[in-house]
Amino acid sequence: MTEQKIYEQELERLSITDELTGVYNRRYFMQQLEQLVVRFTPSTQAVVAIFDIDYFKQINDNYGHAEGDAVLCRLAQFMQQQLRPGDIFARTGGEEFGLLLHRTNAADAKRRLNAIRILVNELEFVPSTGIEQPYRVSATIGLTNVHVDDDKDSVLYRADHALYFGKNKGRNCVIWADDEADADVG
Ligand code: GH3
Ligand code: MG
Ligand code: MG
Repeated sequence: MTEQKIYEQELERLSITDELTGVYNRRYFMQQLEQLVVRFTPSTQAVVAIFDIDYFKQINDNYGHAEGDAVLCRLAQFMQQQLRPGDIFARTGGEEFGLLLHRTNAADAKRRLNAIRILVNELEFVPSTGIEQPYRVSATIGLTNVHVDDDKDSVLYRADHALYFGKNKGRNCVIWADDEADADVG
């Protein structure tokens, strides 16, 4: 390979990588979501999830911004390890991550993401100061499946709405967009 080619590939890699955590970035996530909705057929099964760390601001406030960065890195790497081949995981915002799960149905996606949520909540973080007690973090996850007539925005809207619902419900939970109404009754 020529030096020029290596350089171009490195630029391409950087353009889709989140600088802090090393996982995919928002740009890549949106590209992949666009492809998913454009190529979607009734036989395709796909789930889109938004994973947002609970009370993340408190980590920065209590232990400093560098500690917050370290939490983001560790969680991103941990999440990456939980995925199956073909799943896409990206940092889409400050303390928010997006997931695209291909060839999966609602029940499977809910079960998988709930298992991940529990594992995340079991991780122990030791503050770099070494003085404070270890602490844990939790996350709320909103998810939805892709519909035939969806565009990017409509999918993200439903997932985001489910996430918001989960935050109001008390956080540390997985909310499926179409279950919101049922959950509301209970
Ligand atoms: P909620 O449970 O409602 O999600 O509350 P939250 O505190 O997680 O959410 P909020 O949106 O209030 O705060 C997010 C914080 O994330 C605020 C911002 O300073 C911090 N943040 C965003 N990006 C980074 C980053 O790259 N590094 C660090 N250390 N903090 C970040
Ligand atoms: Mg948050
Ligand atoms: Mg957030």
